[in-house]
Amino acid sequence: MTTNTILLVEDEPDIRDMLNFALTRAAFQVWEAESAEDAMHKLDGLLPSLVIIDWMLPGMSGVELARRLRKDDHTRHLPIIMLTARGEESDKLKSFDSGVDDYIVKPFSPRELIARVKALLRRSGAPDDGVLEAGPISMNLAAHQVTVQGEVVKMGPTEFRLLEMFMSNPDRAFDRSQLLDRVWGRSVYVEERTVDVHVLRLRKALKPYGVHTAVQTVRGVGYRFTPPR
Ligand code: CA
Repeated sequence: MTTNTILLVEDEPDIRDMLNFALTRAAFQVWEAESAEDAMHKLDGLLPSLVIIDWMLPGMSGVELARRLRKDDHTRHLPIIMLTARGEESDKLKSFDSGVDDYIVKPFSPRELIARVKALLRRSGAPDDGVLEAGPISMNLAAHQVTVQGEVVKMGPTEFRLLEMFMSNPDRAFDRSQLLDRVWGRSVYVEERTVDVHVLRLRKALKPYGVHTAVQTVRGVGYRFTPPR
């Protein structure tokens, strides 16, 4: 069994110690960074399983750090949990836009953090065998193949990436610009309507297998994937 390593980016020594203690006790290996700059330096040579970033850091902010990690090929897929203080909650969406996978509002219990870390590790993409599962749907990332109860589902490359993103982030609503960022990338200019076109194609591909309703429209927001039973 491999040990999951967590990079902890927090400038306050007390909180850092407390989190390090809790994570170590939960059998994680912990690396510490006191600032965003320090974290970037450490990430130069190493790639942890997950990174926990405090929003308020001296120098570069946690949000900016998250944004940079998402832009860099080396760290693009790194699961990120952001620690925020109460009152910053209204900025939630901003943090999701920066590519954060989850956030926890201070004060929180170490137990809550451990639970979130484990949940995020479980659902964040590429598990060891490169297979994503959601009910009867199975995605083999290495083989670039989707099956439903063993039957191969044909779909285009964009639909595949879209489904991969959905299955890596179940039960979470994404607006169109977030989907554009994650599936098409920031550098490509695509109209938001394009997202709807590909969601429709994805549903059409899944329909013969009865699992198309997993891709749901969230009124006024965008889309969400709910794993079928
Ligand atoms: Ca701080």
